[in-house]
Parts: sequence; C-alpha cells; structure tokens
Amino acid sequence: MRFLAGGSGVAGRDEPADERAGALFSRCANPRCATGWMRLWRSRRGPGFEGRWACSAACMQELVAAAVRREMDGEGPAELVHRLPVGLVLLEQGRITQAQLREALEAQRRTAGTEGESARLGEWLMGSGVLSESALTRGLSAQWNCPVFGLEGWNPNEVAWVAPRILVEAMEALPVRVRGGKLLYLAFSSRIDRSLAYALERMTGMRVAAGIAPESELLDARARYRETPAPAARYIEAGSSWLLARELARRIEEQKPAEARLVRVHDFFWLRLWRRRAEPPAIPALEDVEDMIGTVGARH
Ligand SMILES: [Zn+2]
Repeated sequence: MRFLAGGSGVAGRDEPADERAGALFSRCANPRCATGWMRLWRSRRGPGFEGRWACSAACMQELVAAAVRREMDGEGPAELVHRLPVGLVLLEQGRITQAQLREALEAQRRTAGTEGESARLGEWLMGSGVLSESALTRGLSAQWNCPVFGLEGWNPNEVAWVAPRILVEAMEALPVRVRGGKLLYLAFSSRIDRSLAYALERMTGMRVAAGIAPESELLDARARYRETPAPAARYIEAGSSWLLARELARRIEEQKPAEARLVRVHDFFWLRLWRRRAEPPAIPALEDVEDMIGTVGARH
C-alpha cells in the first residue's frame, strides 16, 4: 500500500491497526499547532521527540519548551525516609564507641561550614584509624538502606554510553553495569543521589539499582572512566528557559534524531538524541547518541 502526499485518500477508520500506519496518520504533537498537519501529508518524517512528531521546526520548539517547563516544575523524587546520621548508624552497628563518635563530631565542628558531613565524619574516622574503609562502606549502605557494590572486573566500556560524564561526576556516581539490558547498577561513594537515579530511569528505560561502593575503588574506577570514550556532549548556559528550549530544539532540527528525550538532574537539563532507536534491552552505540547539558540563568 502506498500513500501519496496530497492524495485524496482520507485516513480511513477501517485502516489496519498497523503501527506504521498509525505513525503516518499521527498529527503534529504541538497542541497549539496552527496547521494541524498529519504526518501523512508532510514529507517531514522526523525528528522524534519523546515518541512524538512535530510538523515544523516551530512546533518542535513548542514541544521542547513544554518539556523544559515540565522539568522545571517537576519536584523530582522525594526523599521519604528520614535518614539517621552516619555516625549514629556506625554507633548502632557497634563499629565505633560513644567516645569516638563524640570526638569525631567535635573535630567536625572545628571544620564547620563544609558540606557532605557524612563523608567528612567517615573520612575523619578512617583517617584517625578508628574505622576501616569496608566498615564505613557497610555503615553507609545501612544508612541508605542499599547494597554495597564491588567494582572488581568493572569495565568502563560497557557503561560509557549510559550518561554524560559531567552528570555522573557532579553527583559523585559511577555506572557499574547493565544486567539484561533492563537493570542498571549505579554506585555512589557517600550519598545516593535519587535525582540522578530517577533521571537515568526515565532516560534509558532501565530500572536503576543504587548502591554504595568503597571510596578507594570508586576513585580508581573514576580515573579509568574519564579516559573511556563517551557519547559526544555539548554544553549550553542559557539566559532563560525559553532560550534553552530554542537551543535544544535547534539541535534536534539539525541532527534529526530518531528519538530525543529531556530530563532534569538538579540544575542540569539533559537532552539526549538517538540517531537510531535503541529500546531496552538494545544498547546504543556511542556514535548513535549525543547529549546536550544545559543550565538556565546564574547557578548558585
Ligand atoms: Zn505543527
């Protein structure tokens, strides 16, 4: 069956429920589209954005702008559990004594004003010989109620495609491995970043299992990760969310990806473009993926 652009055949109700036909008859996804173009009547087949089609660059820009607004308004995953301070977890587990905790907290108070206090407390306890690294790792895993990941046999080439390096580095994370194309193991050193885990689930379509890995193993692995080829990435600092949407939409129009998606990780907007579709369990080739990382306004 052939569809001729401009032909008189109307999208009949008795068309076979064929997915290809469904795609052909789909309308421009911009709700404010003035023309109401159907894909059938347009030679413009792509690009795709979040599984939808827009009839023109202007309509694509509106789709992307709506996605930027959605990401700005989204709260992200809530931290539902009140976490015990790691010092109390270590005390409860019998890994340190009351006196050692008091001493560590006093040392911490002397260097107050710094962030990441759990890590600092753990580091101080390790540095003063009170605590081994594996004891700290197990304490952190209890604090976050998540598994410990060992990094023996870790292969950076298997996970280099997963995320832009800047996001992984900024959240002190490391993709560990993918199981069956459906489950991604994501390691952190001292605190689990739910925002990154959630963004990765939405972006890759995989479930993310977060865990804690020993700091020394992570340091080693991160050095190797930095030297591994990664997807091409571009960075944008935009003066407003509208300008950001315009830049992202412009790149989508230039590259004409089969699919593109937008998520947010804290202050970072992350757009990924796929030259070819790769739904899980298929893993995309590095050269089929491009990332854009954008921020809006002054960062604080
Ligand atoms: Zn349109």
